[in-house]
Amino acid sequence: MHDFRYAHKKDVANLKKNLSGNTKKLRIKKKTISNLFRYEGRKKSDSREVDLTGFNRVLFLDKKAKTLEVEGLTTFEDIADSTIPHGFLPLITPELKHITIGGAIVGIGVETNSFRFGFVHNSLLEAEVLLGNGKIVTCSPKINSDLFYGLPNSYGTLGYVLRAKIKLRKIKPFMTLRTEKFIDINKLLKSMLTAAKKRDTASIEALAYSKSDLYLTITKETDKPRNLKSIYGPTIFYKEISKPNEFALSARDFCFRYDPDWFWNVPGGSLLNLFRRLAPASIRNSRFYKKYGQPLYDKINYKSKNKFEALIQDWEVPWKDGAKLFNFFFETVDLNGNPIIFAPIKVPKSATLYPMKQNEPYLNLGCYCAIKRKKGQAPYYATKKLDEFCFKHQGIKMLYSSTFLSEKEFDKIYNGRAYKKLKQKYDSQCLLPTLFEKAVKAG
Ligand SMILES: Cc1cc2nc3c(=O)[nH]c(=O)nc-3n(C[C@H](O)[C@H](O)[C@H](O)COP(=O)(O)OP(=O)(O)OC[C@H]3O[C@@H](n4cnc5c(N)ncnc54)[C@H](O)[C@@H]3O)c2cc1C
Repeated sequence: MHDFRYAHKKDVANLKKNLSGNTKKLRIKKKTISNLFRYEGRKKSDSREVDLTGFNRVLFLDKKAKTLEVEGLTTFEDIADSTIPHGFLPLITPELKHITIGGAIVGIGVETNSFRFGFVHNSLLEAEVLLGNGKIVTCSPKINSDLFYGLPNSYGTLGYVLRAKIKLRKIKPFMTLRTEKFIDINKLLKSMLTAAKKRDTASIEALAYSKSDLYLTITKETDKPRNLKSIYGPTIFYKEISKPNEFALSARDFCFRYDPDWFWNVPGGSLLNLFRRLAPASIRNSRFYKKYGQPLYDKINYKSKNKFEALIQDWEVPWKDGAKLFNFFFETVDLNGNPIIFAPIKVPKSATLYPMKQNEPYLNLGCYCAIKRKKGQAPYYATKKLDEFCFKHQGIKMLYSSTFLSEKEFDKIYNGRAYKKLKQKYDSQCLLPTLFEKAVKAG
């Protein structure tokens, strides 16, 4: 594998020269699609665009130290393709191929092995960050540690990640997935905790279609796959784990198992099943759907008919309130036949701007689809109700989607006091938007 560290240093030096003494507002230019789902009106920005598209290389794999140096705009697909052949993966690999390492560090990257490793940023060892004024700083637990622990959930409002050094883990080439049906949420949650205690459990996830139609999938690594399937061709991954089942996937397919159907957002029907059979992987992926499918989907579902609400959100509540959140969800939401996904999560260290109790289990619940709106319900009724429930139970939610909070409430939940200090130190001229502006108000 190439060592691109020297080439990276040269590119950083050029960037530094171009941006030296910058006093204009900055915004990032990137080639990959955005995985933000914010629907409220966004202001057009007249800020200076900083082209970081070239910062998308895997720089150096250190097999002995089990670490990877990678540029901030590298996708997890490229990361997986450069590490799997050597028998490694990042501790956490998000399920959509085109999420970038920088985006997942400053957003909150989660997976179904987060019960063991926490979020994507919990595997970060060091980052190189471009500040709004054009300066480039390194941060780690020892150097600029306030920035290091402040990056997660900062969404590019403190600076842009140009390079990250992350921990890797050794993997086996295949995964065996075993799905069991449940009719009782409490029994399922108990089984999740039991599985989390077993050393050979690699991943824990559950889909639920209603309060009593639940499917728990426990995954283990293996060298010898039985009933090996592919996530491409006619397979619709989430349907495979919506019935009692046992099958295997390659490690790569397992990482990106929800990508070809964008979780469950590619509808069924004979035409789309034909698309599944015939379409090459290059167009059967979340990048293609986000770019071409979503504008059409939004027009039909959310704007013209007003019958649906885009409920694309992730919430985390302390484990003891997991069943309550689950029940409240199904009392509030009509999923229109789609499932929700949920999994246990435990963070080894809390991030400054995403406060959670360390080493305490939480339930992560994700809804990624359009839900039916009842007559008379105001826009974003379910989003607001579920957010309120989550915050009332000392939970927290990710900010990649629509959020409706006052600045005071927002600051209380997301540690506004620490954020202001970070902003003052690393972006005192406000050349980047604030987190509140980005997550709640602007684009
Ligand atoms: C439907 C859906 C499903 C998701 N599924 C998963 C999942 O399976 N696993 C998971 O971990 N996460 C998931 N996420 C969350 C996702 O990880 C975050 O939204 C993440 O921030 C997206 O990163 P991106 O690379 O696509 O960046 P973008 O969406 O392009 O950008 C996100 C934000 O980060 C900023 N940003 C981008 N790159 C950088 C950088 N290098 N440095 C600093 N700031 C930067 C951008 O300005 C923007 O504010 C999901 C989100 C959605 C909407």
